[in-house]
Amino acid sequence: MQAKKRIGLIAHDARKRALREFVRAHAGKFGGHELFATGTTGRMIEKETGIPVRRFKSGPLGGDQQMGALIADGGLDILIFFTDPMTTMPHDVDVKALVRLCTLYNVVLACNQASADFVLTSAYFDGAYERAVPSYEDYVNRAIS
Ligand code: PGA
Repeated sequence: MQAKKRIGLIAHDARKRALREFVRAHAGKFGGHELFATGTTGRMIEKETGIPVRRFKSGPLGGDQQMGALIADGGLDILIFFTDPMTTMPHDVDVKALVRLCTLYNVVLACNQASADFVLTSAYFDGAYERAVPSYEDYVNRAIS
């Protein structure tokens, strides 16, 4: 993983304010990296911090899945996803899929502020880090009877 990280940002509505404050508090750190976000989260962050963000569709409208596709294509190093643990959402399956893809491809995942604090203060955040990415070659080439 290069020193410049590709970072995904998503917040559910009840957690958007917390993410906005988090990014604002660490704007200097985020500024040196490449940011991706679901639609509404990205609009909020660009507006509040001025940091350019590549925006996907709104999460429930497919933005979560676009973020997932980026992960599957090897295009994301870190996902900071402030989830709302108190509300059932129509796109719960997309949320679950994102967590699964981060696990599958060994992408750094922070779902709350304490985890995100640890990620941002890690020596790896601004330095180089060799993230092992499983190939799943055996699975892809498995025999089909
Ligand atoms: P949003 O999507 O940033 O467009 O609000 C977030 C989500 O996945 O709920």
